[in-house]
Amino acid sequence: MALQETRTSALRSARTGRNGVAALSRHFEGELLRPGDHGFDEAASIWNGAVECRPALVARCASSDDVSAAVRFAAKNDVLVAVKGGGHNVAGSATCNGGMVIDLSPMNDVRVDPAARRARAGGGATWADVDRATQPFGLAAPGGLVSRTGIAGLTLGGGLGWLRRKWGLSCDNLASVEIVTADGSVVTASGKQNKDLFWAVRGGGGNFGVVTEFEYVLHPVGPEIMFCFVLYPAADGRQVLRGWRGFCDTAPDEVSSIVLCGTVPAEESFPEDIHGHQFVAIAALHCGTVEEGHPMLQPLRELANPLCDFSGPAPYVEVQSMFDQDYPDGLRYYWKSLFLDRFDDEAIDVLLELAAERPSPLSTVDIWQLGGAMASVGPKETAFGSRGSPYLLGAESNWEDRQEDEANRNWARDACDRMAKFASGASYSNFEPDIEASGCFDQAHLQRLAELKRRYDHGNLFRLNHNIQPG
Ligand SMILES: Cc1cc2nc3c(=O)[nH]c(=O)nc-3n(C[C@H](O)[C@H](O)[C@H](O)COP(=O)(O)OP(=O)(O)OC[C@H]3O[C@@H](n4cnc5c(N)ncnc54)[C@H](O)[C@@H]3O)c2cc1C
Repeated sequence: MALQETRTSALRSARTGRNGVAALSRHFEGELLRPGDHGFDEAASIWNGAVECRPALVARCASSDDVSAAVRFAAKNDVLVAVKGGGHNVAGSATCNGGMVIDLSPMNDVRVDPAARRARAGGGATWADVDRATQPFGLAAPGGLVSRTGIAGLTLGGGLGWLRRKWGLSCDNLASVEIVTADGSVVTASGKQNKDLFWAVRGGGGNFGVVTEFEYVLHPVGPEIMFCFVLYPAADGRQVLRGWRGFCDTAPDEVSSIVLCGTVPAEESFPEDIHGHQFVAIAALHCGTVEEGHPMLQPLRELANPLCDFSGPAPYVEVQSMFDQDYPDGLRYYWKSLFLDRFDDEAIDVLLELAAERPSPLSTVDIWQLGGAMASVGPKETAFGSRGSPYLLGAESNWEDRQEDEANRNWARDACDRMAKFASGASYSNFEPDIEASGCFDQAHLQRLAELKRRYDHGNLFRLNHNIQPG
């Protein structure tokens, strides 16, 4: 931290001390926690153990009025603000040093209107909360691949999940949001009200305010679907990846798939004789009926001789949490990404080299199949503009030992450098560890976002995010 920033944060700490927050606490329904208070450490913690910050205050909000009061307090007292939904952003932007965390996690209520196929979820809900509420009606909102992730950060940055090719991104399925803007106003943004703001929150991240409620359009999914999860030896990687690419060329939109290159963990769920082996895995979900999905996904199970194959019909909610255990709280994480324009034989070879060079066996290098419904939304229709790329590279560095920080971070950076020649240049903000927005948007999007930032947050109160500078 720069000296200037240290001084400023000391000043802010005084304002967030016991006396400083007395006025705020009079109107606050939730909890205001300071260091030393019971529950502070847990409330201040985030998922990424490599990010170590200590806020001076955590405002655990119970309502939009609480959020509004916290925002007004921060603006008035020039207090640094971080906004926490599920706390799962790899950049660690849900916390800060010496400032205030506006913690939405108590606001995780989800209400479903099955007849209208809509769900309203609090700004602190996780995908597990949403799936738990919607699946009893055989409905789902397109979310992410890990159920403990917050809906807020994921949706505001776009949102890639198992339904992306059939129903689009999470942000494409927003009907409206309730949002507290930098002046503390509580407003609704939708296709009819505050349309500009609605455009901006669908891909522009947390730059424009604190979303207290997300209204999603729901779709019939499950409760049982066909899921493919098959691990092949890395030695057969070239054949498997070429076969997968051929499958993707003609796959229907019901199928969304991803390739993961990693190391088989020493866990009971995997046969002992393959523990420690390097694999190339295909995971794919077919969101139609199991009868349709079974034959459709079968070719993915026959690309080579598998190490193991967990494919079969499965409850949709189970698939939604299937990868949760691979991302425990407190591990060290650094992820990078690139939208790819092509995934030709040369790209496959570079990918396999990168997979073999991973410094940590917990890391993976992934390729997401894109297209389908997410590509049928025009690039200008939402702030999320990277719609045309057929694939996304994700280089996920996951490791335990802080001594290994540099090696793991460098590997993820190097992965993007070496894959850059296959890419459009843009990266996916939700997989970016650095708070730098420019690489995530093209010029036209950045310009419009900057204008809207000036309108809704000219003082850049909400700056701990992939930050758009007020234009
Ligand atoms: C294990 C894991 C799996 C993932 N899988 C996927 C995936 O399948 N698909 C995908 O697209 N992404 C995925 N991601 C990335 C994910 O989209 C981002 O990490 C996202 O930011 C997480 O949201 P969160 O609310 O938990 O984040 P937080 O860390 O709480 O917040 C991140 C940022 O979002 C903003 N924010 C949070 N809450 C609010 C709010 N209520 N109002 C306004 N702004 C807010 C703030 O700017 C904050 O800094 C995954 C991440 C992890 C850690």
